[in-house]
Amino acid sequence: MTVETREKLYEGKAKIVYETNQPGRIIQYFKDDATAFNALKKGTILGKGVINNRMSAVLFEVLERAGVPTHYLETLSDREMLCRRLDIIKIETIVRNVVAGSLAKRTGLEEGTPIKQPIVELYYKSDPLGDPMLNDDHVRMMRLATPAELSWMKKTALRVNTVLKPHLTRRGILLVDFKLEFGRQGRKLYLGDEISPDTCRLWDSRSKERLDKDRFRRDMGGVEEAYAEVYRRLVPAST
Ligand code: UDP
Repeated sequence: MTVETREKLYEGKAKIVYETNQPGRIIQYFKDDATAFNALKKGTILGKGVINNRMSAVLFEVLERAGVPTHYLETLSDREMLCRRLDIIKIETIVRNVVAGSLAKRTGLEEGTPIKQPIVELYYKSDPLGDPMLNDDHVRMMRLATPAELSWMKKTALRVNTVLKPHLTRRGILLVDFKLEFGRQGRKLYLGDEISPDTCRLWDSRSKERLDKDRFRRDMGGVEEAYAEVYRRLVPAST
């Protein structure tokens, strides 16, 4: 059955999610729109949608091959990805290998300080509240996920790090930190959302040059060039 786009289910900052004619399947459409600081800063990163779509597909495939269940099913076009429809758990799971961003602010440690054992952090996915940090007890109190689900999410986030970090290292990229979202379909949990320079900090291994959304957040210039460089290193020419 050929897949057809039906009603728009949800429009977010960087993506639109459409229902399809196939039950349990949705289409993620990747836009060039970029936001930062809880949408206080808005802009466009030309070509970002194509890059984030293609790069997420490549990395979801790498993860699937390593046994991580993801919502990714198929790339339909430059900006469209067919995915399993998930009931998204309202927790942003962050994994860190190197101090940067909010961790540098919270601890006073210098950005770039290596972290020996990767750190997992949880944030409540809530725009009105500005994504506050949570711990396991808060998650339990708010019933955002069961203890078994949370434990699986944390274990899987570390597994994603174990798989992606060397994959990126081989391509000259240091995986500083990244954000994951998980969701349920039936009784099973899957990794959802995207894995892209919007959701990861990616530094050139040698020069430590930033190749991610921090260039947009911090008005560093060369935003499109950085996304294009990540794309060139990660996405094989034929896909
Ligand atoms: N991140 C994200 N969405 C968010 C918050 C963070 O994708 O709403 C990603 C961000 O790109 C970085 C990692 O999560 O790769 C850690 O972000 P941090 O907590 O340092 O927050 P920030 O510095 O972006 O405020």
